[in-house]
Amino acid sequence: MKNHLLEICYLIGSVTFILGLKMMGNAKTARKGNLIGAVGMTIAILGTIFLFERKDEMGVVMDYQVPGLIYGLIFGAIALGTIIGWMTAKRVQMTKMPELVSMFNGMGGACAALIGLMEYHHNLGHINALIPIIAGLIIGSVSFSGSIIAFLKLNGTLNKPIRLPAYNIFNNAFMLGVLVLGAWIIYTSPDSTAILYSLFGAAIVYGVLFAIPIGGADMPVVISLLNSFTGLAAAFGGFLYDNKIMLTGGILVGSAGTLLTLAMCKAMNRPLSNVIFGAFGGGAAADDAGASAKGSTKDITANDLAVLMNYSKKVVIVPGYGLAVAQAQHIIHELEMLLEERGVEVKYAIHPVAGRMPGHMNVLLAESNVDYGKLVEMDEINPEFEQTDVVLIVGANDVVNPAAKTNPSSPIYGMPILEVDKAKNIIVNKRSMNAGYAGIENDLFYDPKTSMFFGDAKKALTELVAEIKTL
Ligand code: NDP
Repeated sequence: MKNHLLEICYLIGSVTFILGLKMMGNAKTARKGNLIGAVGMTIAILGTIFLFERKDEMGVVMDYQVPGLIYGLIFGAIALGTIIGWMTAKRVQMTKMPELVSMFNGMGGACAALIGLMEYHHNLGHINALIPIIAGLIIGSVSFSGSIIAFLKLNGTLNKPIRLPAYNIFNNAFMLGVLVLGAWIIYTSPDSTAILYSLFGAAIVYGVLFAIPIGGADMPVVISLLNSFTGLAAAFGGFLYDNKIMLTGGILVGSAGTLLTLAMCKAMNRPLSNVIFGAFGGGAAADDAGASAKGSTKDITANDLAVLMNYSKKVVIVPGYGLAVAQAQHIIHELEMLLEERGVEVKYAIHPVAGRMPGHMNVLLAESNVDYGKLVEMDEINPEFEQTDVVLIVGANDVVNPAAKTNPSSPIYGMPILEVDKAKNIIVNKRSMNAGYAGIENDLFYDPKTSMFFGDAKKALTELVAEIKTL
């Protein structure tokens, strides 16, 4: 009876996961979708704790009482995890979200690896059980250490790709070694903790080797790929325990992560094979590539820019990471409304990897109630730049860097960019001539059509809005 109820809990959980995921596809319903998924997960967890019935080898329910201490440990761990997770997520700034995602993802990978370490000795000799155990152990460990490296790269602790000589060949040989050791353990099933921990250690090292040579500009793809790895590792846990909710949840995470990886590869113009086999950032190091920028720049004052924008027919705003850092989403919306009141057509050009996480700009602008219809994707807006009087780039850099089209030695070469250089006037708002995330110079700033509007985005835009109001 209890097991039937548990199946119903799992069914509810699975449906809420699918529904939640669907709702997360739209910024308007994303928050609700997240909540629905979380409720489903809670039902599934509580169901497992209170309704799970142990069966013997014949499938007969065993008379087994879970000791009170175990319940205490489970709920203690849940409470601790909930408090830490809640507080970190509440406090984290929007711009630091990818770091949080990679850290949480790493924890998921670690859980999958721990399941493998724990279950191995209970299943010696059972190949069918050892396959998901070892697969989950390897994938979870790689995902754990890879995510930690991704976290350190995103928070700037490891801001340079570290590449050993012939790292591609070495990494792939190492990966092969890990797989061979895993296969050997499955087939010979040695009763040795040392061998099991050697595999665990080797997979951890491979995760580090996998992520460490990768340059900053490719990090979004790595995080999403590692996310799909964690999903896969969880799905193996589902196979092992014959647990439908772990299987469904793992498969959903795995497939959503894979789809996101593919979408981002497309946005950054990198074949997935390059991602998997370590050919990332094959070009020159970020420091010396793309540094062809020369000539002089010209500045524009808030007053001159106000006049220029006020008398324009069409203005396109390109938001980037700096807009998020400055928390200038509200003032940019005010600028947009002000211009629209004066008969100027205003649109936002959204690059798929602008900011520091997929959909970052959409989420940021949604916060200030910008009309979704005004957010135009890169492929759609690119042909419109020619008819644009003013393109206002706010805290964006790499996503408008022409080196992606013109400089084959640039780390971002091949990444589709917003073709802002086609607009009649290009205005760049940033605080200095510093490089963007990929660490490369930007020739756009030296374009004769470009004027630099220096300053913190929020401060500079507030000044601009005030100037427009006086006209
Ligand atoms: P970039 O990081 O290329 O450039 C941001 C610019 O904003 C900087 O040059 C900086 O210049 C400026 N800036 C910083 N703070 C402020 C401020 N307070 N006011 C005004 N300007 C400011 O951003 P993009 O959005 O163009 O590109 C995103 C990059 O991040 C890409 O390389 C992408 O691959 C990578 N990435 C994307 C992820 C994603 O999923 N979206 C995840 C991880 C990385 P200055 O210091 O002079 O002010």
